[in-house]
Parts: sequence; structure tokens; C-alpha cells
Amino acid sequence: MATPASDASPARKTSIPALNPLDLYNVRALLSEDEQMVQDTVGRMVDEKVLPIIGRCFEDHRFPREIVPELAELGLLGVYLKGYGCAGLNAVSYGLICQELERGDSGIRSFVSVQTSLCMYPIYAFGSEAQKQKYLPGMARGEIIGCFGLTEPHGGSDPANMRTHARRKGKDWVLNGAKMWITNGSIADLAVVWAMTDEGIRGFLVEKDTKGFSAPEIERKFSLRASVTSSLFFDNVVVPEENVLPGVSGLKGPLSCLTQARYGISWGVIGAAQACLGQLLDYTRSRVLFGRPLSHTQAIQMRLADHSRRITTAQLLSLQLGRLKDKGDMTSSQVSLAKWNNVRMAIDIARDCRDMLGGSGISAEYVPVRHMLNLESVITYEGTETVHQLTIGRELTGVSAF
Ligand SMILES: Cc1cc2nc3c(=O)[nH]c(=O)nc-3n(C[C@H](O)[C@H](O)[C@H](O)COP(=O)(O)OP(=O)(O)OC[C@H]3O[C@@H](n4cnc5c(N)ncnc54)[C@H](O)[C@@H]3O)c2cc1C
Repeated sequence: MATPASDASPARKTSIPALNPLDLYNVRALLSEDEQMVQDTVGRMVDEKVLPIIGRCFEDHRFPREIVPELAELGLLGVYLKGYGCAGLNAVSYGLICQELERGDSGIRSFVSVQTSLCMYPIYAFGSEAQKQKYLPGMARGEIIGCFGLTEPHGGSDPANMRTHARRKGKDWVLNGAKMWITNGSIADLAVVWAMTDEGIRGFLVEKDTKGFSAPEIERKFSLRASVTSSLFFDNVVVPEENVLPGVSGLKGPLSCLTQARYGISWGVIGAAQACLGQLLDYTRSRVLFGRPLSHTQAIQMRLADHSRRITTAQLLSLQLGRLKDKGDMTSSQVSLAKWNNVRMAIDIARDCRDMLGGSGISAEYVPVRHMLNLESVITYEGTETVHQLTIGRELTGVSAF
């Protein structure tokens, strides 16, 4: 016997949705009160300070530096580190922060990710006590901005093939080479630079005014326009021994930072997808075609349902990943799976939302096209999809096919 859809009659019946359409499984109920409070606080800041300006910043190719004190005031810089002026919140809270910030724009989340996970984290994890004291409190206050130089012009997916190198000269090191696509580069006071040495890859803390160091901005981007992206050049840059990270050598240094940042990305992009879906739910209700709102058509409902399915899956994936991280059980291949799945989810949703807006979808009046363009960077940086697929393939088979 055919089973009719339980609420299929009358055909055009409408009702007030009982569930939050952007959180269909009530994932929020799985959060502690503290975690909910963090999310609400950051969400309010995004609504009040980011959303009113971010579209214009994207159009103007401008990072809104004026919100850095706001981010610092809320304790969002280095939020999961303990001591040195940092709040010491858990991994799930950090994830929720990324989600709310990226609901505003991937550029804002990128700024916080780079500052926190790619610059403060390596100093915290591998730095000397003097380096921690010198840099971390100022970075938490947003007075010292950091950037992370790993990618080189000849290929970011294969960082072991690094050409930037440092040689010992007396008590100092001399750094030569170039980095490319470096977030925050031109506004950074401090660059965490990974370079090949006779002892393997080491991390160097290069201050902005060091002779021979330059960081020109990369212009004419179509993506992450509200974020600064730069090249870094090192021409016989002298770095004192006390600016070398003593606690790590080899690729595990930069890769462990990337694991932290990729974790945050897996959460962040959920916010971008929610922003797109939220706007489309409103739009399809009010856009009348062929005598009925778009939201009353089966094809549109199926597309919206697919977005909801994929957002819900991503939320649960990131939450479990966060709980594993908080227990100290998270692995880098688990992070690869979440980064791959969730960014793919978000970019597909942003592109589909752009399409459902018709011609309006290319207008800056609506958010999907901005998120869609941003996500083209997010799917590329911190490991392309292929890199994460090969990481999981290696985990499953024990064979590296890179
Ligand atoms: C906006 C932006 C901000 C960024 N910020 C930073 C930053 O702050 N710091 C930093 O260090 N880097 C940063 N990056 C760099 C980013 O991490 C690299 O772009 C990324 O790792 C890819 O490197 P690539 O661009 O050199 O591409 P390539 O490594 O040249 O890859 C090109 C293509 O080849 C594919 N590929 C690679 N290896 C294989 C393989 N074995 N088999 C099959 N296909 C393969 C890739 O998936 C990709 O599709 C940023 C990038 C962007 C766009």
C-alpha cells in the first residue's frame, strides 16, 4: 500500500516551522550553558559590528582593521590558550566562535584563525618562555598582529619541498626565500616563518621592521577581499637565535598548527552556509513566480532540504570532533575529513543559493555570492580537497599516495 506523506494534504498547507531551520537537530541543546553564552556573545558582535560593514569592505577590498580591538576585547584572539592573557576556553567554544565569525565573513574568521592557531599556537606550543612573555599577551590584546609563512610560490601542497632556507651565522641565522598567499602578511607585526635548515625545518619569528624583510599585498583577488593576503620576501634577513622556536623541528611544527586551524575552519564554514540558507528561506518565501512563492515548489524545497541535511551533518561532525579535541583524542586525519566535508558542503550550498536568487544572486545586496567567492579560498587553503582526501586515503590504507 502506498504511504501518503503525513502532511501532504491540503497540498498548499503552510504552518509555522516548529524547528529552527538553521539548526534542525537542535545541536545547540548539546552545548553547555557556557558554550551557548560564547556563541550568543560572538553572534551579537557579528550582527552589530561585522554585518553592517562587511559587504562594503568586500567591495572595497579592505580588511576592517577597526574591529580588531573588538575581537580582542571579547577575548577571541588565542581563545583556547591558557595564561598569557588568553581565556583558556574549550575547543567547542573556539569552534562556535569560528562559526559565528564566518557567518559574517570568511575573512574575519581567517584573521582570528591565523592569529590564534597559526601564530599564537606555535609560540605557545613550541616557544621559549621569553618568546611567550614577549609576544602572546600583546597578540591576545590585538596589539601585535601575526602571520604564518609556510606556502611558497612553487607549490603549497608539498611543504616538505621548501626552498626558503636559513643558515647559521655565528649566533644568528640568515634567512632567504619567499612565501606566497600569506594571510595578514602586510599588516603583521610578526611573521612565523618556516624555513629549511641543516637541522630540518625550523620556525623563525621575524619582526616586521627587520632589514631585508618585505610583505607586499597581493592585489586583484576575487575571493577573501575583506582579508589581507600577501607575499613575504626574505633577502639575507638576520634572525637572532632567541627568535627561533626551540621546541620543534621538522614538518610536524607547521602541520600541527594547520591541524588547529583546520579544526576551526570545519566549524567556521557552517556559519557561512547558514547565512546563505537563512537568506534563501526568506527570499523563496517572497519571490512569486508562476503565481506562487518559490518556496511552494517541489524543486526549491528539495534543494533547501538538501542544504539542511548537509548543514546538520556538518554541525554534528564538528561537534563530535570538538568533543574529541577537548578529550585530547582528535587526530589530524579526522580533522581532514571535517575540513573536506564541511567546506565542500558550504561551497555547494553557497553556489546553489546564488543560483536560486536568479539575477539577484550576483548582486552584493545578497550574501551568497560573497560567501561563494570566499569559500573558493577556504577550499584551497589549509590543504586542498585532494590533500585531505589523500590524507584520509593514507589513514585507511597505510599507503601515502601523495
Ligand atoms: C586567500 C588565501 C590565503 C592563504 N593564507 C595562507 C597563509 O596564511 N599561510 C600559508 O602558508 N599559506 C596560505 N595560503 C596558501 C594555501 O595554503 C595554498 O594555496 C594551498 O596549500 C595550495 O597550494 P598552491 O596554491 O601552491 O597549490 P598547489 O599545491 O600547486 O596545488 C595545485 C593543484 O594540485 C592539486 N594537487 C596537489 N598535490 C596533488 C597530488 N599529489 N595529487 C593530485 N593533485 C594534487 C591541488 O589539490 C590543487 O588542485 C593561502 C591561500 C589563499 C588562496
